[in-house]
Amino acid sequence: MTITGPTTGDLREQRDRARREYDELLTRGLSFNLTRGKPSTAQLDLSQELLELPGAEGHTAADGSDCRNYGGLHGLPELREIFAELLQVPAGQLLAAGNSSLELMHDCLVHAMLGRLPGGQARWTDEERVAFLCPVPGYDRHFALCERFGIEMISVPMTDEGPDMDAVERLVAEDPAIKGIWCVPKYSNPTGVSYSDRVVERLAAMPAAAPDFRIFWDNAYAVHHLTDEEVEVADVLAACAEHGHPDRAFVFGSTSKITFAGAGVGFFGSSPANVDWLLAHSSKRSIGPDKVNQLRHVRFLRDAEGVRAHMRRQRALLQPKFEAVQRILDKELGGTGLARWTEPEGGYFITLDILGGGAADVVRLAAQAGIALTPAGAPYPYGKDPRDETIRIAPSYPSPQDLEEAVTGLAICARLVGYERALAR
Ligand code: PMP
Repeated sequence: MTITGPTTGDLREQRDRARREYDELLTRGLSFNLTRGKPSTAQLDLSQELLELPGAEGHTAADGSDCRNYGGLHGLPELREIFAELLQVPAGQLLAAGNSSLELMHDCLVHAMLGRLPGGQARWTDEERVAFLCPVPGYDRHFALCERFGIEMISVPMTDEGPDMDAVERLVAEDPAIKGIWCVPKYSNPTGVSYSDRVVERLAAMPAAAPDFRIFWDNAYAVHHLTDEEVEVADVLAACAEHGHPDRAFVFGSTSKITFAGAGVGFFGSSPANVDWLLAHSSKRSIGPDKVNQLRHVRFLRDAEGVRAHMRRQRALLQPKFEAVQRILDKELGGTGLARWTEPEGGYFITLDILGGGAADVVRLAAQAGIALTPAGAPYPYGKDPRDETIRIAPSYPSPQDLEEAVTGLAICARLVGYERALAR
């Protein structure tokens, strides 16, 4: 960090002021939680009607089948139709599954470990090394899956249009142990970055040393816009097919942040060969998904336009919270040279970078003042942020008033740590 301008005396004064504000914070007995991207109660209330659906008479699917019974491993066709357009997957290649996309990612890894992927030469457990590229900062639960299965993680930097493709192309071309890359293509967790057409094109076209290389395309925020600039990301399945890699991408999505985060529907989309591969394995695991829940989602959301309209109601609740965070960070940290932060156009997160390091100290001080944040380092493989800079802010869950207090408190911690560190240099 270079703090140009202020003298040591100025810095001391700023530090002392931050310390007084922090001491005052400690006396207030705060208890706030900004750790996870959870929808607020008001957001969940938007989907309250789901609890009444499909209703006592309403358990029959469009094809006349009884949703209460076993069957239909692909998931309900009418729900797959709705999300085909939104997730850019042909309905015939899209599965509607259980209540979570993360569990689908988990299962894909397990099945790749224990059952050979289309195009692969061996099960991943039989390979000497298996590695994934991890654009950083990224989603901690992706990295936790890699740790769980002993998959080596190789960090690649994020740019403002997706992962650094020079690094990705080089690594994927030369190392056959690299079997995958984690991608959150739209309004990424936690940076808010959306992948440019150029990045999607390069991901689809690049040569891979591993014949069973896969892009884990976690489109968790496909319809989660926060502004009128509704970002469109290129169709990865089509791009991969065009470049002769039809089996390269696994697409994931869910209604977790559309309807109910714990009682939504997860989706998997890919090439016909990959869909058959997953179905062959998942048919051993389950006789079929919860079609009653899927039917209630069809009745509630109706069609792709219904989903978009619903997301505009979500945006009305979320956008003011994101704006409040910007306003407070501007007021408390703007012009200090201590931090920089993202202004996402969608998704669920803002990242606050503590310039020159000290993020772990900021998170610790905030915790002592009753403000719980995602652990510093969480958006990096093995929980280690090499620069100790990134803090993820999840503004969705707290009430607007609690959010204001919590972010103000966080900014005070950032100032205190920043000025302490500047003085120690
Ligand atoms: N992927 C990303 C990028 C997420 O941010 C989240 C939720 N925080 C998930 C997946 C989890 O999705 P699901 O509820 O469908 O398992």
